[in-house]
Amino acid sequence: MNPVRISLVTLGSLKQPVDVRSLSRWRSNILAITHGDSVAHLQDAEGEDWTYTDQQLEKLLAPAAGAEITLGLINARLEGNFYLRRLPQNVAVLSLYEMAEIVQYENFSVDTFILRTAYELAVLFKVEGRIPATGEFSWAHDDIRGCLFDMCSSKGDIVFSLHRPCLCGACRNQVLEKRVDVNLLPSLDKELRRIHKTLFFRLTDWIKVHPVLTLALTTFLALAVNLASSALFEKAKRIWPWIA
Ligand SMILES: [Zn+2]
Repeated sequence: MNPVRISLVTLGSLKQPVDVRSLSRWRSNILAITHGDSVAHLQDAEGEDWTYTDQQLEKLLAPAAGAEITLGLINARLEGNFYLRRLPQNVAVLSLYEMAEIVQYENFSVDTFILRTAYELAVLFKVEGRIPATGEFSWAHDDIRGCLFDMCSSKGDIVFSLHRPCLCGACRNQVLEKRVDVNLLPSLDKELRRIHKTLFFRLTDWIKVHPVLTLALTTFLALAVNLASSALFEKAKRIWPWIA
């Protein structure tokens, strides 16, 4: 299976560090991310309330040569206050405006958010053969299922599909109804499991859910360490009586 090549293009100051190098090293059979061009300084937004319109973004972001999908990254308000706008010619723009704070508040990285979106676009491209423009048609469903195609009409809903996202039954059926590589779904399931919080934050979440058990385990561990050190000290005293 040939991975979908996605060129990341930064548009203006992102105000957030994005580790494109680590994204480009992500091992995947489904997508391959490369660092494309960047636009250092953006023109002022043409839409109301400092919104970058689709029309303005289309002029700004041409399809990258050698990539199936061009994904622009911007930290500004987009049309309809969407965080993702899909434009013609397999170009999409992902906004970090408000989203960076939302994902970081829940202990996810901005890179995880970008990667999850890259999978959403790559699956669409693999199945539909192109990226439909916003408003044309969409796989998104209102129900939040931890799926790549959760609508996330409330921006905060994104966090439910950042930790080990999946493809829900309905979306899986959409894939199965089309002619796709037989390895697409198995590879996708395997790769999506690798998108998760770091171990530290997984442990923090576990402690929040199980405070009493954590307290009991901590107490037990403290007692065990105490007993073990006492036993060790007694043994040491027999070998080196002068330390008593
Ligand atoms: Zn779904």
